[in-house]
Amino acid sequence: MAELRIEGLRKNFGTHPVLSDLDLIVPAGEFVAILGPSGSGKTTLLRLVCGFERADGGTILLNQQTVSGPGVHLPPDRRRIGYVPQEGALFPHLSVVENIVFGLPRDQRRARYRVDELLEIVGLPASFANRAPQQLSGGQQQRVALARALAPQPALVLLDEPFSALDAALRVETRKAVADALSAAGATALLVTHDQSEALSMGHQVAVLWEGRLLQIAGPETLYRRPVTAELARFVGDAV
Ligand code: ADP
Repeated sequence: MAELRIEGLRKNFGTHPVLSDLDLIVPAGEFVAILGPSGSGKTTLLRLVCGFERADGGTILLNQQTVSGPGVHLPPDRRRIGYVPQEGALFPHLSVVENIVFGLPRDQRRARYRVDELLEIVGLPASFANRAPQQLSGGQQQRVALARALAPQPALVLLDEPFSALDAALRVETRKAVADALSAAGATALLVTHDQSEALSMGHQVAVLWEGRLLQIAGPETLYRRPVTAELARFVGDAV
């Protein structure tokens, strides 16, 4: 797993600055939650890191390799990034195991023990391998989506509001399973969410994105006790 380093990242849509001079370091093996209200630029940030969008300035380095920078734009499939979207990531006509190995080179698909290992990491029994996605709960489906993201041993895992479609009880249980899985895999991971309690309960560090700028980066406890602005205090306070 790799370090993610973002330096002076800028993105405009037309004349509207969506991200301004954003600096962020996610050390190898760390899990950072990006917390921000709707419209603060979270999705745009993930799309820039993935390579689905081009930046207007700044540099993104993954494992000390520039994947985005002046004159450099590595395509998404060469960035070694695993992605877990909000919902609907699984192919409904494929089994759990087929979903997990879907993007892997053919020679790696035979190694079934990897799939068992991945299911164990995400806290699902090996007997789930041949089930269809529709036979799983929403939370279990998101765990399979994470197993699939981890399968190619990516440099970085990105999670885009992965629990937003789940009901409250399932959300809490799935958050814990996902945090445990990322930790067991030693993954460097970035999760974006507008949900304060999600960010505070999951991230080793929480980075607050506010109107396209990083307002504060801190451990959950510090962020909760010492938010840098009154607005942020109110926003974080909504978590309780
Ligand atoms: P968040 O994920 O935090 O809700 P987004 O990154 O989706 O925020 O959006 C940030 C801002 O950028 C919003 O004002 C949004 O309207 C604008 N925006 C996002 N994508 C586009 C686009 N493709 N074209 C124009 N404006 C966009």
